[in-house]
Amino acid sequence: MRLVVDLNKCQGYAQCAFLAPDVFAMHGEESLVYDPRPDPGQRERLARAVAACPVQAITADGLDGSPEAAGAR
Ligand code: SF4
Repeated sequence: MRLVVDLNKCQGYAQCAFLAPDVFAMHGEESLVYDPRPDPGQRERLARAVAACPVQAITADGLDGSPEAAGAR
């Protein structure tokens, strides 16, 4: 899976860090750090985080679990 967060959009609401703490973390009050190549085991949490972001700042490939997206890099 690949993950991109548009940090210009991100408002630091931390919904993603709450829902997928192994992928996203807040660094200080407002800046977000994240794993751009999350483990496939994070898929469900990641999908929830994508859906929960109030400003749709998170874009992720491979959330549907297709072999190409999950395995091939
Ligand atoms: S949920 Fe969205 S706005 Fe909030 S920290 Fe995550 S990416 Fe940023």
